[in-house]
Amino acid sequence: MTECDAIRPQITALLDGELSLAAIAEVDAHVNGCTACAAVYADIGILKTAARTAAPIPPVDLWTGIGEAIDEADHDMLDTMRLLRQEMQSLREEVAALRQELAKRPASTVSRSTPISLPDAPRKSMSQYRLV
Ligand SMILES: [Zn+2]
Repeated sequence: MTECDAIRPQITALLDGELSLAAIAEVDAHVNGCTACAAVYADIGILKTAARTAAPIPPVDLWTGIGEAIDEADHDMLDTMRLLRQEMQSLREEVAALRQELAKRPASTVSRSTPISLPDAPRKSMSQYRLV
């Protein structure tokens, strides 16, 4: 085994901060006198910097990630959140469709005094909701 063969693994260890001061001095002395190992030292340093500064890869499906992280006991809550999210999405679509309908109407028929008819929906008073 050449001195270079012995030093190369130490270069990675040095860049990972895993070497003692004595070992650092040994690697440093070799790298300063060996252009081949100096090039390896520079290349590994560049790779490590690139890996450190690279943006994290976002999860493919955030909800799946959250679901896996949550205990089985919390799955009911997650299902509820999913349903609420779907409901919000459909409400957004309804509002967008209503806005388009309103935009199509001639300006004269749209006035503040025009009563808006809302579908009859059972309304719950706030006292029917219980805070947990
Ligand atoms: Zn060398």
